[in-house]
Amino acid sequence: MSNSSSKSVHILMIPFPASGHILPLLDLTHQLAIRGLQMTIFVTPKNHYYLNPLLSLHPSIETLVLPFPSHPSIPNGVENLQDVTVDYVPQLVTALRELCDPISHWFQTHSSPPVAIIFDVLMSSFAHRLVPSLGVKRIVFCPINANALSSFWSNDIRNISEFVRENIIENQQSWGLVFNSFIELESEKFDFVKLFMKHDRIWGVGPLLPIKASPERGGAGSIPTEEVITWLDSCHVDKSVVYVGFGSQITLNKIQMEALAEALEKSGVKFIWVVKDPVKGGKDDDQSIVPVGFEDRVAGRGLVIRGWAPQAMILKHRAVGSYLTHLGWGSVLEGLLGEVLLLAWPMQVDHFFNTKQLVDELGVAIRVCEGLNTIPDSTNLAQILKESVRENRPERISFMKLREKALNAIKEGGSSYKALDDLARVISTLCL
Ligand code: UDP
Repeated sequence: MSNSSSKSVHILMIPFPASGHILPLLDLTHQLAIRGLQMTIFVTPKNHYYLNPLLSLHPSIETLVLPFPSHPSIPNGVENLQDVTVDYVPQLVTALRELCDPISHWFQTHSSPPVAIIFDVLMSSFAHRLVPSLGVKRIVFCPINANALSSFWSNDIRNISEFVRENIIENQQSWGLVFNSFIELESEKFDFVKLFMKHDRIWGVGPLLPIKASPERGGAGSIPTEEVITWLDSCHVDKSVVYVGFGSQITLNKIQMEALAEALEKSGVKFIWVVKDPVKGGKDDDQSIVPVGFEDRVAGRGLVIRGWAPQAMILKHRAVGSYLTHLGWGSVLEGLLGEVLLLAWPMQVDHFFNTKQLVDELGVAIRVCEGLNTIPDSTNLAQILKESVRENRPERISFMKLREKALNAIKEGGSSYKALDDLARVISTLCL
């Protein structure tokens, strides 16, 4: 790990306000901080709590906290995509763009201003407005993988929204790009992205390890972390628990909830089911309703966590054997760092690309359902859940081989470890 040459070179991190984006960006911040870079993170007040674990480890990291600008179509008080549906991405970025002037002012009055800004991949129009006047290097952080990004980039740009078109063009023109992925998984896709960008400044640094400072990672739910872990500790058989969770954005409607509850009940498996709080502005007002009596009927063999689960910790627990997931990229990587069999129910955006890659091309996960509004057949799903913790499916064996490659990539001397060193070194040679 190189840190001597990079001392005091400053970079600013600009996340997109959604858990699947902020959390890995903070993990990257941690990695660059331990490599000696001076870091500042921009957030709005309601997202400041995400920083607690990082700031407890690195008190020297600066924060730039600015009030969230109001926007006519964003419900009052919303500062995070988690509280609304994915359709709100353009509005959130548009609202945040109003903060470019105060950020410019902060930059111009800073005693050692950043030489580079790392923007989340969704913040391209923000970058477009901010960067030219500052003369810094623009680096994109991509929490999805190279396969998904290059699939988006290969779309016919005449058939996509203006927001997505501008996003693609802007990101392709950036000075550098960092993936939370590893080259051994998808080297051809990395090359493909380089062709689009017309340069080689692409770093695969994943899977970024979750910051270890505390179990708190993105929030708290209805059951305290210690209780969840105690419950898992009490499950004596390794890999006997199914974890069910669809990330930070997805809520199920009443009929989907009933079908999933029925499947869990029929399967007889031990499980943890995370039920995300309902969102504002969604098309269903009957989201996230756990069927009456379900929790009593499964008492002792299942936990229902409302709101937020300590997912990364759950997936690493020896008792957890499989994971019914939307296949969001962060969740895939956390599954890889654990040792779970992935049962895929892709719902939206990159989940479909991830499913094609992991299920159809690599054979490391099992497709069980598909689509945001699909209602699974509870009998079939129950059977899959049961088998997922009882049988050594070939997909699990292949997933474990991929896991080995991922762990090799992040250990000292591995490709992702070296890429982090290289990223810190290259940034440390920049000057304004
Ligand atoms: N997450 C969590 N607890 C929850 C739901 C999500 O810790 O109850 C975390 C999860 O561990 C992952 C991130 O939120 O780090 C979700 O990212 P992902 O890319 O999987 O999906 P998204 O939420 O962006 O669809």
